[in-house]
Amino acid sequence: MNFDNYANSKINVGEGSNSGNTSNPSSLSKCLDQLKVEWNKNQSIASLWQDWPKIAGPKIASNCIPLTFHGGILTIGANHPQWIQALMFNRIQLLAALKAEGHEIKDIRIKQHYPQKSIQKETENAIWEEHPSRSDIHGKNCCPICNVPAPSGEISLWGKCLLCRRQDLTPKRRV
Ligand SMILES: [Zn+2]
Repeated sequence: MNFDNYANSKINVGEGSNSGNTSNPSSLSKCLDQLKVEWNKNQSIASLWQDWPKIAGPKIASNCIPLTFHGGILTIGANHPQWIQALMFNRIQLLAALKAEGHEIKDIRIKQHYPQKSIQKETENAIWEEHPSRSDIHGKNCCPICNVPAPSGEISLWGKCLLCRRQDLTPKRRV
């Protein structure tokens, strides 16, 4: 952000129409230039992501991802110290391969990076995948205790439906 320009345009608003005309076109073109820079930045990281599996190979690509690409410096995040070592070991080859693909790269930085959100999501999905109440994949069966149709995953797991299972788990009141 150019603060000089910002200050000028603020002053010009108060001064009237004549003086304002000189700074506006230049700040607009600066703004456009900045947009172009941003766009190119996004373009280069996007195309880098596309090329990444091809450049790094499937093993590295599934454990290490390009995080940022600023001023020719590519920062790669690895999800395990072992992969940081692998990246460091392959650094020169990676640089050469990235250059060969047309990326204007000067250096590679490597850092530890845990994609926590995606790991959490995968875990949630896996839990849901195996959840006994999921009747769309497990099918339905009649509960042998209450004879009400229930997901067969529940019945094969507990020998009864979830409701009957819950009754087992709640402490019985003595009458
Ligand atoms: Zn039941």
